[in-house]
Amino acid sequence: MDPAAAPRRPVGGTGPAPVTAGPTEADWDAAVAAVRRLAPEGRVLLICHVNPDGDALGSMLGFGLGLRRLGVRRLQATFPGPPEVPEPFRELPGLELLVPATEAEPEPDLVICFDAASESRLGALADRLSGTGVALVLDHHASNTGFGDVNLVDPVAAATSVVAEELLARLDVPLDAGIAECLYVALSTDTGSFRFDATTPAVHEMAARLLATGIRPGDISRRVFDSRPFGAVRLFGEVLGRARLEPAAAGGHGLVWTYATLDDLARHDQRPYVLEALIDPVRCTAEADVSCVVKQTGPAEWAVSLRSKGAVDVARVADALGGGGHRLAAGFTGRGTVDEVVERIRVELSAPAPDGGVARQG
Ligand code: AMP
Ligand code: MN
Ligand code: MN
Repeated sequence: MDPAAAPRRPVGGTGPAPVTAGPTEADWDAAVAAVRRLAPEGRVLLICHVNPDGDALGSMLGFGLGLRRLGVRRLQATFPGPPEVPEPFRELPGLELLVPATEAEPEPDLVICFDAASESRLGALADRLSGTGVALVLDHHASNTGFGDVNLVDPVAAATSVVAEELLARLDVPLDAGIAECLYVALSTDTGSFRFDATTPAVHEMAARLLATGIRPGDISRRVFDSRPFGAVRLFGEVLGRARLEPAAAGGHGLVWTYATLDDLARHDQRPYVLEALIDPVRCTAEADVSCVVKQTGPAEWAVSLRSKGAVDVARVADALGGGGHRLAAGFTGRGTVDEVVERIRVELSAPAPDGGVARQG
């Protein structure tokens, strides 16, 4: 059944409307109860969003390791699409919990979704939400549709792992080094290595709790941020060489963009996930508030990454083009040619924002 066709009955107070405030005490209590209610042989399925990033995998696996400490035995973690874990995350603790989407438990008693703002980010696995089990959603996207029975969505949280850590604490699961490494990878990737504005005192306090377990931030950061195959270095050089700067775009705030094709990947013998890091050198461009990387995923299909330095709300742009995300980091699936996809972005960037200005001022 199409899960979107069957609105779920909220247990914990938040309904199917987009979530604006963080979880209530009733939400936390309902989430704790959903885990505690599990029978000894209860089947738990953890799902994170398609093309998983550090927060998706880290919060899911960290929470999974915590559930294991609670004695949950029938436990699987998965994500839609090919079961390939991006190289930077191939040493995460808890990877043994992962199963390909095709082997995921069809009738779990408890489904827990991580870092996904809507069912559409769960691909074919969204059908697990319409079974008889309880669906618990852990997320931090303001646009989250509240698609679970219990929704722990904190739009102020820097990462889904912030929500995961809080729920583990409420379940009395102590942090160990394995859990901590997963949650640290999630926290450091979603805060851009503690550089973005989401890096609050609470984020550093959480990082301190994680580091206190003895995990090695130098080793972790090198693996996650500072290591890529030589072929990817060469590929980045080529793709950055074709970047375009459009100072007049976005109402004069400026747009910088580039694209990478499947042929580019093949020529350099690289896997698609290496392109996830490409937005970072592109968004360094001082002359543009908005940066964009258009990554080919099929004959006429592109995964588009958008970033803003604050003057423009790129979530609004992505949302208008069928995607979503956060104000400063968003994305969508583009169709057609690169030029068509970029033209649609230009048009959205120059469209009047809801507050009447040219895109929303940050
Ligand atoms: P990315 O550029 O892939 O790192 O994505 C940045 C943010 O945009 C993510 O955290 C997601 O919240 C969101 N996002 C990316 N792609 C999509 C999509 N196709 N649909 C909805 N949200 C997306
Ligand atoms: Mn994510
Ligand atoms: Mn996240």
